[in-house]
Order: sequence, then structure tokens, then C-alpha cells
Amino acid sequence: MLEVSGLVKRFGGFKAVNNVSFRVDQGEILGLIGPNGSGKSTIFNMLSGTLPPTSGSILFAGHEIAGLAPHRIINRGIGRTFQIPRPFRKLTIFENVALAGFYGQGRHSRVKAEEAAERALAMVGLPTDRHASVDGLGAAGLKKLELAKALATAPKLLLADESLGGLDEAEMDQAAEMLRKIRDELGITIIWVEHIMGVLMRVVDRVMVLDHGEKISEGLPSAVASDPRVIEVYLGT
Ligand code: ADP
Ligand code: MG
Repeated sequence: MLEVSGLVKRFGGFKAVNNVSFRVDQGEILGLIGPNGSGKSTIFNMLSGTLPPTSGSILFAGHEIAGLAPHRIINRGIGRTFQIPRPFRKLTIFENVALAGFYGQGRHSRVKAEEAAERALAMVGLPTDRHASVDGLGAAGLKKLELAKALATAPKLLLADESLGGLDEAEMDQAAEMLRKIRDELGITIIWVEHIMGVLMRVVDRVMVLDHGEKISEGLPSAVASDPRVIEVYLGT
């Protein structure tokens, strides 16, 4: 589904992502972990069109998408969540999600966007009534809202950035189960980014580890968790 080769992102003289290659198969959940600052969000920014790569190729369903504008990438079927939720505070929960659906699906139809919003909100367990306010949402609720916005764009591939940040243990388990359910019930392929291993390792099919912008390990969770290079990076944090 996704084939990334030789991806590089420079900020001035600094290489935030340095020659990273990987693939994602249809229907899998790929975990992408690494310490803070290792380049995870920058990779998502390039996959979603928020930042153009300095060099490298991103093939999605066989087509080159590197450097395309965000709305074109959304229309091709890649949805993302942001690590720091920034909903429109003056809009209701429903309006935030419907708006994402409206733009995400190429502004085709308000009715379709609203239907997509209802399905997305039900999926993540947020109220589907049209008046519920964003103000009452805590950390877990805001993370669910991020997911619902991404789902309303009808993605084939979902990029989930730090879905566990600010959550307690029980909420982390719930969030992990939610991603599993999105894959199992909606058939959506997922790349899931976290800086901690934790519960992610129980849910993902494969995991890839970044350090200082480079891929240092990749494979089944059990193998990666016992990889000496990974242990070294995680002991040092
Ligand atoms: P992660 O998501 O793994 O914590 P990021 O991808 O956000 O890491 O950042 C990787 C590195 O690139 C960090 O050193 C960060 O400061 C730097 N960086 C990220 N975005 C920018 C930017 N727009 N301009 C300059 N440096 C950036
Ligand atoms: Mg990040």
C-alpha cells in the first residue's frame, strides 16, 4: 500500500529524517517509535503533505505522492491525526468532524460529510448529537476527536500521531483497542507513532524504530523489543 524509499528531510543543515525506507502492507498496523525528536512527526508531515521531502520517494497505491498538497493526499486516501489537538473551539464536536469530512472528501456534499461525521463519532465513542461542545473534552476526548476528524475523511491509510499522550493507563488501553477496532472493523491500514513502547507493542503487527532521524530497527514487536540497539536508545531516555 505504501512504499517509502530514501526519505530525507533537512531543516537548514540539520537532517531531521535521514534516508528512511519502509513499506506498509494493506491491513496492517505498523508501529513507529523512537525518542522525542527522532523524526516521527516529520515523517508524518511528509506522508500527509504538510512538509515536502528534501528527497526520496513515497509511493501510495503505486503512485508517487511526495510533495503533493495536503488536500490532494487526503483525497487519495491518507488521513492523519495531529500530536497536539487543536479543534475549532467555537464549533461543536459534530461541526469539527463534519468540517474535516467536507474538506477531506473534496467538498462534494454537505450531507455526505455529515453522515461521515456521524459514523466517525460513533466509532470513537463521542456523542453524535449536534450540540455537544468541545469545551467539556479532556485529554482522552480530544484524542478521540482527532481520530474522528481523520476517520471522517474516509482514509485507506490512517497516520495516528502520539495517540496516548496525556492519557492514564486505562485510557491508553482504550485508545489502543480503538485503533485495533478501526483496523479490524473498517479495514483501515494504520501507521501508529508513539515515543513510548508500552501498549503499542501489544497491538501492532510490526514495529520500526527511529533514532536521530534514522531507522535503527524493524520487525516483529518481540524481536524489536529485545534488539540491543533499541534497548540502548530506550535506556538512554
Ligand atoms: P518526533 O515526532 O520524533 O518527536 P519531530 O519529527 O517532531 O520528532 O522532530 C525531529 C527533529 O526535527 C527535532 O529535532 C525537531 O526539533 C526538528 N524539527 C521538526 N520540525 C521542524 C521545523 N519545522 N523546523 C526546524 N526543525 C524542525
Ligand atoms: Mg512527534
